[in-house]
Amino acid sequence: MTSRYRVEYALKTHRRDQLIEWIKGLLAVPFVLYSQPQGVFDGQGIASNTLLQTREEAHRRYSEILRDVEIMVDDHIMHQNDAENPFPSKLKLLVPSIGQFFTRLPLEAAFKLQDRKRYISSRRFVSPSFNDVRLILNSAQIMAVTTYGTLQLATFDGDVTLYDDGQSLEDNSPVIPRLIDLLRKNVKVGIVTAAGYTTAERYYARLHGLLDAMANSAELTPAQKQSLVVMGGEANYLFEFSATSPHLLAPVPREQWLTPEMASWDDRDITELLDVAEVALQNSIKSLNLPATLMRKDRAVGIIPLSPDIRIPRESLEETVLVVQKILELSTAGRGRRVPFCAFNGGRDVFVDIGDKSWGVTVLQRWFGAGLPDGIIKGENTLHVGDQFLSAGANDFRARSVGTTSWIASPAETVELLDELAELMGKKMS
Ligand code: IMP
Ligand code: MG
Repeated sequence: MTSRYRVEYALKTHRRDQLIEWIKGLLAVPFVLYSQPQGVFDGQGIASNTLLQTREEAHRRYSEILRDVEIMVDDHIMHQNDAENPFPSKLKLLVPSIGQFFTRLPLEAAFKLQDRKRYISSRRFVSPSFNDVRLILNSAQIMAVTTYGTLQLATFDGDVTLYDDGQSLEDNSPVIPRLIDLLRKNVKVGIVTAAGYTTAERYYARLHGLLDAMANSAELTPAQKQSLVVMGGEANYLFEFSATSPHLLAPVPREQWLTPEMASWDDRDITELLDVAEVALQNSIKSLNLPATLMRKDRAVGIIPLSPDIRIPRESLEETVLVVQKILELSTAGRGRRVPFCAFNGGRDVFVDIGDKSWGVTVLQRWFGAGLPDGIIKGENTLHVGDQFLSAGANDFRARSVGTTSWIASPAETVELLDELAELMGKKMS
């Protein structure tokens, strides 16, 4: 979701976009001081010269700012890695919500790349936007993950990231050859979706384009085909690609992949938490008069529109998430913190899932890292791509605590990101 759709909240503790807003603010200063909107009134000739100069000047100043932020991130990383140092970094003081960095961020180089694509420095009326900065951070992150180390695990959200909301991965989707290319380069690929189904058939219905293309691919070795898994319900159902299974996916029993901590979650606590969530969601349907119905599953509970053509207002969805989240946090089940949960706005619906994507991605880091010296693929070698970083609950944002992330706004942006990634990986190999 982009800033165009921002909703104002009474409680701002969940805001995740402060680094982007802060960088946007820094870039606004040279924009205001040096952009020359009156240039459009000039005639030809000298004006085009002036235009060129203005663009070069803006480019130089934006680059300098991003280099300064890059240095501040480096300093922050030094602080975070120094257990002896009790003091916050300068960046932490300026942007208190800042989290852990798994890699440094080559922001200046990323800006130059995005400026070539988006002509940010050429604009005289529209300042560097939230989206510009979001894309600069994405480019910096994939540059880092391929340049300072090696990308070993790429995980993708489903809805809005690989396909449009509520749709499925069709045969002609442009993301399919790009995901197959990652597998061909021996990157492990996980689809980490909140969509929670207990059967392979349901996931095949959503992902058939990719699964069929893999089954028919002569380029991929059997080991590379084994490198695709689906983690559904955020962290609840694991399926492996399996060419011989009817729906090309084989379920992996929980005993084989639950982390020790997850294995300690008690079924009674899970039921209690979902019961509380169910009542809270029911109350929300009543109090906000939502055209919605409840859906209870074994590891989730949600509300969905009464019919597919109904759209529940965004504000009602956000309100529901925040209310349910608070009620759960304060409930006996939630206060004990025995079972983590994720309440989120899915765009058209609200769900409360047991666990969240940080658990889902961790499971895959262990699943594919079993043969590695540490038994796990590290955060700096992991990239999660998703769309939910800002709306209430922000289920993709949760993955930020276990690996690097890219925040996209549409499947088309995922395609662009994968092309950038392929180019960087290609450069590294040659
Ligand atoms: P994602 O974007 O791939 O993470 O999928 C999120 C969407 O999956 C939600 O907005 C729902 O529409 C759908 N969904 C289906 N079943 C579940 C469930 O059990 N938990 C959460 N979301 C679900
Ligand atoms: Mg999504």
